[in-house]
Amino acid sequence: RRAAFAALKDVPPVTRDGHRVTLMVNAGLRDDVHALDLTGADGIGLFRTEFQFLVSATLPQRERQQRLYREVLDNAGSRPVVFRTVDIGGDKALPYLRDDNAEDEENPAMGWRALRVALERDGLMKAQARALLEAGAGRTLNVMFPMVSEPWEFDEARALFEAQRSWLSARGRRLPTQVRYGAMLEVPALAEQLDVLLPRVDFLSIGTNDLTQFLFAADRANPKLAERYDWLSPSILRFLKRIVDQARAADVPVAVCGEMGGRPLEAMALIGLGLDRLSITPAAVGPVKAMVRSLDLAELQGQVSRLLADPPKTLRTELAAWAAGTGV
Ligand code: PEP
Ligand code: MG
Repeated sequence: RRAAFAALKDVPPVTRDGHRVTLMVNAGLRDDVHALDLTGADGIGLFRTEFQFLVSATLPQRERQQRLYREVLDNAGSRPVVFRTVDIGGDKALPYLRDDNAEDEENPAMGWRALRVALERDGLMKAQARALLEAGAGRTLNVMFPMVSEPWEFDEARALFEAQRSWLSARGRRLPTQVRYGAMLEVPALAEQLDVLLPRVDFLSIGTNDLTQFLFAADRANPKLAERYDWLSPSILRFLKRIVDQARAADVPVAVCGEMGGRPLEAMALIGLGLDRLSITPAAVGPVKAMVRSLDLAELQGQVSRLLADPPKTLRTELAAWAAGTGV
């Protein structure tokens, strides 16, 4: 099977009825840059920049950040890369960046992390903004902010980047030809202000790992809960469907970048909801592409809407049976 997936490297993820799905990879380390060539993916849909911080004994200075970003962009060539600004703090605590209260957090996943840290300790994000803007000189730079809970947080983060862009520009530095700003949707509250957020963002990416744990109030790291809430539960799928429909109506590209999209049956459900952009773990590209190429999208969408209208406890059994019956 592995050989069969490898053979799919150079064929596009197109459904039987001719719909092109964009399959990208999640990455974060220098070695991950090879994942694009190995899998034939369309780009890097999530580059987790905190990995460099997590594997480093000291705070990576701007020059070091910039070198990594440039290497990633050089390797990607014309394929897009979405850089997510650091998602540190909480359970990804850094010994060299410690808040006096950080250790006392009872619920680090819901704690002082990601954009919450970045907007308060803005020196960190300013350095990262400059590193990204300089690394992206002469090309399109895609920047994405993690854990946006309310639209104003996105506005502040974007303004911080734009201020750095002006600063560099005033000094005659070479800049990206275009900077696109996106938000991760992984905090349920943001979904209630999508109408406010959508006109301000260039793209949206749904982080189903965090979104699911917050939607179900179920710790993603607790094995006792791992089997309890299904990614194919009607609650999750209906929630995602509303987001996808709203983003579509506003003409904002929307992707899923959580682990959910790397499992073929879950990916099939997402595509059935109307998603056509997935960013997944590199090892999943072959299996997900094989699934996409065996799909009839129109039939799948009909099946998913029928199931969501009068839902069973989980759509898993029905979708698996449907997939087996139609040769997916
Ligand atoms: C997510 O939350 O779904 C996500 C992609 O981000 P991370 O797994 O890095 O929290
Ligand atoms: Mg997340």
